[in-house]
Amino acid sequence: MGQATVQQSELQCQSCGGQCAFDPAQQELLCQSCGSLWPLATDDDHKAADEFPFDPDAPAAEPPFLQGDQIHQCETCGGEVVFTGAALSEHCPYCNGSVVRAVEEKAYETMALVPFRIDRDYAARCITDWINRRIAAPSDLTSLAAEGQIASIYAPFWTFDSKEVIEYWATYEEGSGKTRRRRRRTGRINIDFNDMLVPASEHVTPLIRDGILHDFKAQYLRPYRSGYLAGFAAERHHMTVQEGLQANEADKDLLIRNLIEGEIDKPNPRVERYRTDTTGIHYRRILLPVWILHYTYRGTPKKVVVSGIDGRTFGERPFSPWKLAGCSAVLTALTMAIGLLWGATGVL
Ligand SMILES: [Zn+2]
Ligand SMILES: [Zn+2]
Repeated sequence: MGQATVQQSELQCQSCGGQCAFDPAQQELLCQSCGSLWPLATDDDHKAADEFPFDPDAPAAEPPFLQGDQIHQCETCGGEVVFTGAALSEHCPYCNGSVVRAVEEKAYETMALVPFRIDRDYAARCITDWINRRIAAPSDLTSLAAEGQIASIYAPFWTFDSKEVIEYWATYEEGSGKTRRRRRRTGRINIDFNDMLVPASEHVTPLIRDGILHDFKAQYLRPYRSGYLAGFAAERHHMTVQEGLQANEADKDLLIRNLIEGEIDKPNPRVERYRTDTTGIHYRRILLPVWILHYTYRGTPKKVVVSGIDGRTFGERPFSPWKLAGCSAVLTALTMAIGLLWGATGVL
């Protein structure tokens, strides 16, 4: 087990030496002992939304990510703090002090984050409201959820911008009955993708992204500082830009096909093939705040997730069979619509 390089002393109160944690209401570091507030804003906050160019033909050097547990001797009490896998933020199990790991590999550096804007109590209320609104939830779900643990996590994400010049070959249907036939159509579409959000962790599925984080706004980004992580769990970035772009491919494909079908605007359009010339790729490595409630229903693990930005809530839940009829189809259609709408801007 390696030795972790950490940031700990800057997470302690400058006046009493107590442990500080990030306070979502004040957006500052709050001393848990004396109540002092320590600002985290910097003169460079406006730079947090900056994006970085990426040239796929000349990819930046990204050494392989070294996964492995690291150990740190607590500077306050001498206790052992263990960072497991991709864990970025921890607390000392002995004195409860916040410890944030310093990431030495420049290639995997987090550029910016959206700090938590809602606290644990608010997240708990969101979850209760969400359950109460679900007409198909079994009536014992509320009490089950209350027994679960609500965990916080700053989850790693990419944002990607690109310019696409799309050339497509498609067919559509014309006429009806005996005169019905398929017609060919080719065409070209220009589109700019802006801030496509891509999960950079297997713990955050595209479903969670579409359920609670699809209207991500770059204006909430702040420069990465360990203070924002104090008191919250966080997962570090560990994928290369190429891997992020690959993970983005399926989403882009779905959006492009939908764009083409929309452009054809005829019955039963079918995209036979397309090719796209991608330029102007820009990216960010960011962290986004999520509350997660894990619970078990009849032996099956489930979760409800809450956006740490605005409280939007989404979850997997058991259905009560007798309430189910007609409801699940609507929910599925809704989820799909959200998935398809998200991400595309500026159709030219
Ligand atoms: Zn203090
Ligand atoms: Zn300690």
